Amino acid sequence: MKKDGHIHTPFCPHGTLDPLEDYIEKAINEQFTDITFTEHAPLPLNFMDPTPDKDSGMKPELLTTYLDTLSQMKEQYKNDIRIHIGLEVDYIVGFEEETKAFLNMIGPSLDDAILSVHFLQWQGEYCCIDFSEEEFMKFANKVGSVEAVYDLYYDTVLRSIEADLGVFKPKRIGHPTLVHKFQHSHKEQISDEHRIKEILNAMKKKGYELDVNSAGLSKKYCLEPYPPFTMIDYAKSINLPLVFGSDAHAVKDLHQHYEKIFL
Ligand code: ZN
Ligand code: FE
Repeated sequence: MKKDGHIHTPFCPHGTLDPLEDYIEKAINEQFTDITFTEHAPLPLNFMDPTPDKDSGMKPELLTTYLDTLSQMKEQYKNDIRIHIGLEVDYIVGFEEETKAFLNMIGPSLDDAILSVHFLQWQGEYCCIDFSEEEFMKFANKVGSVEAVYDLYYDTVLRSIEADLGVFKPKRIGHPTLVHKFQHSHKEQISDEHRIKEILNAMKKKGYELDVNSAGLSKKYCLEPYPPFTMIDYAKSINLPLVFGSDAHAVKDLHQHYEKIFL
């Protein structure tokens, strides 16, 4: 099996309109046997998206079309590649009940899914920590330090792993070191290997998979995958199931850096 398990689509409001067929044909050409489309699920209706354009999640009214379109593609290409219908679902502290209700509703239509943390809560306010280095630093000043944001991120990922989100809770944890995205912008070296290991161990205990996400390698202030290579090695040493994810929001980024990560 050769899988890319984290792919965005034209249904992403902050992505590109590259057609699904182009992603699929590229995957077939590069001999992938399995791909999962994991569009950002619609955010809970009562959650205020803190990003300026409020475009972190898919528009709720497009969800049915998204699922129908993917079913059609799955059928159309079934002799060439296994297409899995998925979503990238946000874990947001304080919105567990809404998320569970959403998963209970949508779960039966999905083949695969990812649970990710993009939003951190601090004193009742939310921040999308991967939006921009300015937003990240503003948040770090509020929380107290860059290290405090790292800790808050890992605490939140741990909560996502432990959370009761019902029987359709995703089995894969998305990019658990996304908080490294701006590390070469703020230039602070945080020693967080014990925290990352804590997370990987918690995932192992729960029987989850790790999204080995190559997108960070292409981000100019990150330059490493999520999680970094040493932690991918650690994940392998504890036999945590690894699933490559390019997190592509454009066809040109599909399968980015696959060969560096999965050799
Ligand atoms: Zn996205
Ligand atoms: Fe994500």
